[in-house]
Amino acid sequence: MRAYTHPACATHDPGPGHAERPARLAAVTDALRAAWPALDWHEAPSATRGQLLRVHDDVLLALVLDTPVQQRIALDPDTFLGPGSAEAALRAAGAGVAAVDAVMTGDAGRVFCAVRPPGHHATGSVAMGFCLFNSIAVAAAHACDRHGLERVAVIDFDVHHGNGTQDIFDTDPRVMYLSSHQAPLYPDSGYADERGVGNVVNAPLPPGMDGDGFRQVWRDTLLPALDGFRPQLVLVSAGFDGHRLDPLAQLQLEASDYAWLTGELVAIADRHAHGRLVSMLEGGYDLQALAECSVAHVGVLLDGAA
Ligand SMILES: [Zn+2]
Repeated sequence: MRAYTHPACATHDPGPGHAERPARLAAVTDALRAAWPALDWHEAPSATRGQLLRVHDDVLLALVLDTPVQQRIALDPDTFLGPGSAEAALRAAGAGVAAVDAVMTGDAGRVFCAVRPPGHHATGSVAMGFCLFNSIAVAAAHACDRHGLERVAVIDFDVHHGNGTQDIFDTDPRVMYLSSHQAPLYPDSGYADERGVGNVVNAPLPPGMDGDGFRQVWRDTLLPALDGFRPQLVLVSAGFDGHRLDPLAQLQLEASDYAWLTGELVAIADRHAHGRLVSMLEGGYDLQALAECSVAHVGVLLDGAA
């Protein structure tokens, strides 16, 4: 099993006191290297403009890549562009593209991308919610356009709804988007009646829900929908901010809940997708919980069993 990362992903700095901070990357990569020495680490390449333009417009590309940045610029109250941001965003998106290529050519079975900034709030035209480019969407579009896949699933268990991913694909039946997320919570989307063209499944969860409730929702609603879609590739927006210690939300999940769900996703990838699964880091803002959940998640990806 492969993992992709790049040192540039630590150079995107949204500023003092920001939850989405560079230390998140080392928390994840240090914990993974210590826990799973057998992980096969690769350096993430940069995404190309052509790969980004499959899901983003050229105005957003110009903003992120071509703005001269001497000091941090606020794109919105949460989202910042600094001197290292363009390179970090390119490597984060490029990791997903390389991971898709690796599983499609058979060079790897499952891949985890330890990257930042996160991506799932970025729409086709707007960087928002800590996200500059929507890396998982770039990966999904690459799978469809470069590898000709007709059924790509994006599973998003970050505690926030991936409004950007949904927005990019909600008229594209080649991609199914399935999400559980706390509601109410930023970005105030992802209601159950948002169905796209039948390719979007949203499961809002109430604040305070614990792992039993979380597993029940996945068992009853999301996993059957995913299984019924028969994905040729499983992509995962792996945000660990539903952990009970996370400062940005109020779910009560434990690392074992993420391990359980990962096992279910591996089983579905094995059943329909020749095992092909690519997971990309999204949120997770308590460093200890983030490290623990990443180790649990990747442990199941390595073994194939929770
Ligand atoms: Zn999140």
